[in-house]
Amino acid sequence: MLERGIKQLTLAGLAMLLAISPAAALTIMIDFNDPAQANTTDVNNSVVSTFDITAYGFSDPADRFNIYNGILTALDYDFHGIPTASQYLFSPIPDGYQLDIDFEIGDVGSTPANGDSEYYFVQLGSFVSSPLAPSNALGLSVNFGAINGNYSFGSTLASIFTNSINLLDITLTEGNLNNTINAINGTLAHEIGHTLSLQHVKVEGAMTPTGLKPIMATGTVASGLQNADRLIDREFATFAALSDSFGNQPSLQQLVNVLGLRPIPEPGTLLLIGPGLILLYHRRPA
Ligand SMILES: [Zn+2]
Repeated sequence: MLERGIKQLTLAGLAMLLAISPAAALTIMIDFNDPAQANTTDVNNSVVSTFDITAYGFSDPADRFNIYNGILTALDYDFHGIPTASQYLFSPIPDGYQLDIDFEIGDVGSTPANGDSEYYFVQLGSFVSSPLAPSNALGLSVNFGAINGNYSFGSTLASIFTNSINLLDITLTEGNLNNTINAINGTLAHEIGHTLSLQHVKVEGAMTPTGLKPIMATGTVASGLQNADRLIDREFATFAALSDSFGNQPSLQQLVNVLGLRPIPEPGTLLLIGPGLILLYHRRPA
């Protein structure tokens, strides 16, 4: 009985350590430029100022955190909500696993709360200037930026120009949270995809896990994404033809190749084990 108790204690302790130990995954820090924040600059020398949520029909500061959290949740789902093998025949992800990447909200210059030493920033805000992008560009990033080791950790690898997304021929001035989240996160996930080596793909013929339009599509004729499609959720493709060159790139398999996989953490582990440990301690003297 005692031996069994100790065994349980050791296992519980191990699981607890695993649950609380800092992750070693790549972390992408999302810097929404706040009203009080100075302009920020990425490695392409693109500069952004405040992400103006009032232009989207929201109130400052009341709605700001809902928008931030909504976008972060949608982004996280694009990378961690991918159906696994038993749910989707063509999934490159086995059951019980997920892509080894994390996302956090944080200002440029800060460090991840999860303790990761391998992290990069993406900045979101209004277009100020860029030597490489026209003022109506939706976003710009460094291809292969997060995986080729050419940029030091803490660098800002991509920009999302929130004002340009709101200047498309789609209505985003009515304070519609879903539309706003989909439009901004679509470009955010797309640019992060580039930093992880993903290329532009064609909408036509693309295969995605649940039939949504591919994240790596663009508005060019060759790619075929309509601006109205930006108001709807999108996902990374299982198979798609490239739109800027010949050939194809399965976005999901490429993400698995460059990020690797980890077992899905059990969110309830700590809560379940905590009371268990206390019970064991109380029971041991008896
Ligand atoms: Zn792109």
